[in-house]
Amino acid sequence: MQLPLIENSLVKLSEQELTSLSYAFQQMRKPLQTINYDYAVWDRTYSYMKSNSASAKKYYEKHEYSDDTFKSLKVDGVFIFDTQNLPVFSKGFNHRNDIPLTFELMDFKRHPQNIALSPQTKQAFPPISSPLDSPNDVPSIHGVIATRYGPAIYSSTSILKSDRSGAQLGYLVFIRLIDEGFITELSQYTAAGVEMAMADATDANLTRLGANTKLNKLTATSERLITNVDGKPLLKLVLYHTNNQPPPMLDYSVFILLAEMSLLLILAYFLYSYLLINPVRKLAADIKEMDKSRDIKKLKYHYPITELVKVATHFNALMGTIKEQTKQLNEQVFIDKLTNIPNRRGFEQRLETYCQLLARQQIGFTLIIADVDHFKEYNDTLGHFAGDEALIKVAQTLSQQFYRAEDICARFGGEEFIMLFRDIPDEPLQRKLDAMLHSFTELALPHPSSATADVVTVSLGVCKVIAVEDFQFRSDANIIGRQAALLADKALYKAKSMGRNQYTKVEVSVTQIENLEQDTPTNLP
Ligand code: GH3
Ligand code: MG
Ligand code: MG
Repeated sequence: MQLPLIENSLVKLSEQELTSLSYAFQQMRKPLQTINYDYAVWDRTYSYMKSNSASAKKYYEKHEYSDDTFKSLKVDGVFIFDTQNLPVFSKGFNHRNDIPLTFELMDFKRHPQNIALSPQTKQAFPPISSPLDSPNDVPSIHGVIATRYGPAIYSSTSILKSDRSGAQLGYLVFIRLIDEGFITELSQYTAAGVEMAMADATDANLTRLGANTKLNKLTATSERLITNVDGKPLLKLVLYHTNNQPPPMLDYSVFILLAEMSLLLILAYFLYSYLLINPVRKLAADIKEMDKSRDIKKLKYHYPITELVKVATHFNALMGTIKEQTKQLNEQVFIDKLTNIPNRRGFEQRLETYCQLLARQQIGFTLIIADVDHFKEYNDTLGHFAGDEALIKVAQTLSQQFYRAEDICARFGGEEFIMLFRDIPDEPLQRKLDAMLHSFTELALPHPSSATADVVTVSLGVCKVIAVEDFQFRSDANIIGRQAALLADKALYKAKSMGRNQYTKVEVSVTQIENLEQDTPTNLP
């Protein structure tokens, strides 16, 4: 938004540089005019024109226009003309490099346009105006003229007495070559750089120096034309403006810096994503998945930062503890607190498995219920605490007979225990039952108030379930378990009534059991 304003200011600055160029040119011409005037309006020059003495003339010429005078006045040519425009005296001397010069510009026959050097001539192309023009109404003229050594500034003043009285006796012309030194001096007045170039007819339309300093837009250079005495293009002054470019909105280097910073930001984001965001996301997803599936798994350790590996490690440790505790809790649900053997729920779970095996693979099983004889009396005699201790020993004694993983000995409730043997033939079963009863003799836990023996004994009710090949269950296979328990309980009752400390066994096929289930409403013990 500020740009047009800035550009306007820069155009103004360039215009000022152009103004200063024409001012500088005037400043360069001023000393020439001053000294030209001083020498022209001077009694000695006047006397020189009047004098007929050749020696006096020589004296003036030699002393007033010595080489040193050229150097000190910074003049390269001096010409004196009489009233008839005929040259009276001329001398050329390059004040900068001490070389004598021979000018032809005063030969008005060869260069008729140079008659313009006469201050009496009305100039067709007036030079750049200056407050110094025509001081004290003495005819004086100045401008730029082409010479064989290149363009030169000139100043021409009528020869008068110092008090400006008397008739004009001709005119005195001073010139100074516009050479490199001139341009260097000129440049010191302008802030901008200046160069000189020769002009030709094609430059006729160029703006003349001092004519106009208006600029429409910013340019790198401005050219100003200086014309010869006849108005023809002679030379150009090329001005190099100091500020020719509007300030760019954003510098090229700023763009590069911005691009580099953006790249860095993108890189940092990717690194941040790779190192932090993605691993944390992965960690969260793993934990979420674990929670969803209710399956406690170990987290993987492939995280790029150590902190996350630590989180995973601690999380895994915590999950391990939870897993262990869950396992213990689960087990506790199926374990009897007093005797530390499976409880009724544990047993029922196993019985269910047995029933499924029976249904699918025709694998039979044997269910045994054990009941401590006269246990009420035991409690009554020895106390409830001793009763508990006795139950623990009974549980251990019975459990000794079960070493296969699939078999089970559980506390059914009170002083009753329930057991399962999978697929046990008659003979080994016989031995197991005998061993079971005998183990109580060996345990020899005194029972002071038992009518059966001196020691604690048990009675056993046994139900052997026999599988039937290709048997198709009409109803739930679990009824086999229920009916087997019912039958075992009946057998136990029989063993009790027959005198206790013994077992009674029934054998039943799957077909029979299912029929039983149809006939009688289930009454589990
Ligand atoms: P039977 O020979 O006919 O089986 O007679 P019993 O006295 O053993 O049978 P009954 O059913 O009359 O008595 C069972 C007793 O078992 C009653 C109860 O005091 C005792 N009992 C049941 N559970 C526990 C227990 O957890 N701890 C103790 N100390 N005693 C128990
Ligand atoms: Mg009982
Ligand atoms: Mg009992």
